Amino acid sequence: MRRALLILWLVLVAGLIYGIAARRTVVLDLLSLADPPALLDVEALDQGVKWWDDYYTLEWLDERTIAIGEPRFVQRNFAYLILGDSRAVLFDTGPGVRSSLDRLVADVTALPVVAAPSHLHYDHIGNLARFGEVALMDVAGVREQLTDGVLVPEPGQFLGYVEGYESPHLRPTEWWAPGQVIDLGGRRLRVLHTPGHTPESISLLDEERGWLFAGDFLYPGPLFAFVPGSSLDDYRSGVRNVLDAIPDGVRSVGGHGKQIDTRAPILRRRDLLDLDSVLEEIEDGIVDGRGLFPRVYDVNSSIEIWTDPLE
Ligand SMILES: [Zn+2]
Repeated sequence: MRRALLILWLVLVAGLIYGIAARRTVVLDLLSLADPPALLDVEALDQGVKWWDDYYTLEWLDERTIAIGEPRFVQRNFAYLILGDSRAVLFDTGPGVRSSLDRLVADVTALPVVAAPSHLHYDHIGNLARFGEVALMDVAGVREQLTDGVLVPEPGQFLGYVEGYESPHLRPTEWWAPGQVIDLGGRRLRVLHTPGHTPESISLLDEERGWLFAGDFLYPGPLFAFVPGSSLDDYRSGVRNVLDAIPDGVRSVGGHGKQIDTRAPILRRRDLLDLDSVLEEIEDGIVDGRGLFPRVYDVNSSIEIWTDPLE
């Protein structure tokens, strides 16, 4: 009997140690056990948003900036088509639920297009391999992962197992480093390193037109800072990078939308200042969060940040 109790105790301790060590993936592992999410029904689109087919939506944010929405996907992804005079950038390519994104892009513009992801999570690089021109971020050792011209994101970088996606084989044709200016002809985008959600996350700044394309670094809703590779220290430096770079009045558009809204999710400099304050308060231990793992902190009325309390 005593021996059985000892074994039970050892199993519990081992389970606890494993649970703590693997805490960042356990939540995702549990999610991967469920069936992939079904497509949502969308009753009506908000003003200014129109269907391209029965899955993708288009919204012209200005005459050269188009938000491509996926309101039927449970994570409500947004990609952005950024047009210059001689070239266009497609920033993010969604999860790849539908394979028609390249046709959509060709339908909207005749310009040559380079597709570039904000980071390497599965819901931002589905369909990326369908584009002939692909730019990847030259940060956080991503370029060193290249083998014979091909990059296959690591499982912890990609997280596709959560919904049954396999890592794509990416063939980058360009590398974009922080500070680099991408000239689209009559339109310039500056690459900003915005780590925190993942080490390799980048954002694109169009200073002239006043847009920041922020991927998963900033959007209304829960910001995920508890997944593999996330870091609150990194988040703070990412926020600083952006605050140093953006003028007042810049509108930041993110990678995921709100549940009640099919328009592109727009945030402002004020939201970045709020995020900076909360990150400082978390670091100083002077703000209370909710829950054990992830621990959730309110940033303001539209943003939360979900963190790893043992980081
Ligand atoms: Zn992500």
